[in-house]
Amino acid sequence: MALAASLSYPLLRSYSSPRRRHRRSAVAASLRPEEGIVIVGAGVAGLATALALRRLGVAAAVLEQGATLRAGGTSLTLFKNGWRVLDSIGVADELRAKYLRIQGMRMRSPAAGGRDLREFSFEEEAPGQEVRAVERRVLLETLASKLPPGTISFSSKLKSIAEQGPDGTLLELEDGRQVLAKIVIGCDGVNSPIARWMGFSEPRYVGHMAFRGLAEYADGQPFEPKVNYIYGRGVRAGFVPVSPTKVYWFICFNRPDPGPKVTDPAALKSEALDLVRGWPSDLLAVMRSTPEGAVVRTPLVDRWLWPGLAPRASRGSRVVLAGDAWHPMTPNLGQGACCALEDAVVLARRLAAAADADAAGVEAAMRGYEAERWARVFPLTARAGLVGALVQWENAAVCAARDGVVIPRLVRLGPFLEHTNFECDLLEPAAAASP
Ligand SMILES: Cc1cc2nc3c(=O)[nH]c(=O)nc-3n(C[C@H](O)[C@H](O)[C@H](O)COP(=O)(O)OP(=O)(O)OC[C@H]3O[C@@H](n4cnc5c(N)ncnc54)[C@H](O)[C@@H]3O)c2cc1C
Repeated sequence: MALAASLSYPLLRSYSSPRRRHRRSAVAASLRPEEGIVIVGAGVAGLATALALRRLGVAAAVLEQGATLRAGGTSLTLFKNGWRVLDSIGVADELRAKYLRIQGMRMRSPAAGGRDLREFSFEEEAPGQEVRAVERRVLLETLASKLPPGTISFSSKLKSIAEQGPDGTLLELEDGRQVLAKIVIGCDGVNSPIARWMGFSEPRYVGHMAFRGLAEYADGQPFEPKVNYIYGRGVRAGFVPVSPTKVYWFICFNRPDPGPKVTDPAALKSEALDLVRGWPSDLLAVMRSTPEGAVVRTPLVDRWLWPGLAPRASRGSRVVLAGDAWHPMTPNLGQGACCALEDAVVLARRLAAAADADAAGVEAAMRGYEAERWARVFPLTARAGLVGALVQWENAAVCAARDGVVIPRLVRLGPFLEHTNFECDLLEPAAAASP
């Protein structure tokens, strides 16, 4: 049977028991017992995929465990590959109007109040590069605002997933609701239950953690639009102006194991400040201007997609992964969300092109997506991991070589940022997709 109808027009045939139907309608009227495409996770990957599909005329339902879009997570630095995707799905200009274009990078050592190691200008050394830090909350809200009302079912946490023969894949939610989906797109992030079900191992803790915060300056922040990096021994920090009133900062520090989760905002902020005691005063001022609730601490993890060892990103014509669910990577290159955005347009194009295909055609589309994206994300995951290992070195001689030779003389910004080259055409809005 051709899948066009099931991609564009979710089947409405009743599926579950009357008791379940009752419970379902009380909880989320928008989610139907049978859906064509179900995206699990309303993060960057899930919302961008839903929007890209919609622009190609294909409807999808989105399940999100949270009661709202994720508000935390401070900000994400997006490079030109991320902006190409946001252009292609029609939301870039709205975001550009809110966030500063970063002009360059300044690298310092923490010694002597912040000794300069090197400065780069994007215009001179990486022409065409576009760098902006965007608030995650605003990015998600902007993507969601372009989807038809009712697309996202909140408070819909996936509990289990099971193949249901030729009918599709059965998703069971924590509250007992069930959805039978023709196609499931797993965008459920770094701890993805769908990836686990597909045989992926847990992401690996890489030995360092990150603090992040978003400082607020009601009367305007005082910084030039540059990324500021400060490299210590086993600790590095940085800050980047986000908007006229907000500045994002981070600290990465070595720790053999992540330890217990700390939720007390005051304790988090003071632990972060302790790590960079005596470091340049501009960094400390940014950190002190951060509301306590806007500081988070995250263990950094990744998972390398070794050829022949990693499971496939798709299962038959039914389930496929995108974003962190498939390829969690460390943030050392600022590429996790950018790659999640890239996944979204590539997958949407492949699935939309297979809208009239049979199951074999849809499976081929998923395999094509996997092959195209694997060649991109495996090397990037590895590179991000290796860069992180290098910059987190504690050894005094290695750090002296980094500060005296590597950063001042060897680093070339243009070649270093070649991984941000990614072209994609505008996804044309099609006639409204089915509701
Ligand atoms: C410290 C740090 C800094 C970073 N900085 C950058 C950066 O500067 N630039 C950049 O490009 N990337 C950066 N990243 C990476 C970026 O945050 C991720 O790559 C990106 O968020 C991945 O998006 P995603 O949609 O795949 O996953 P997520 O954003 O994690 O979204 C997953 C969604 O799925 C939902 N979900 C999970 N489980 C379920 C379930 N069972 N049922 C229903 N819903 C579920 C979650 O609630 C969430 O909304 C950084 C990461 C870290 C840790």
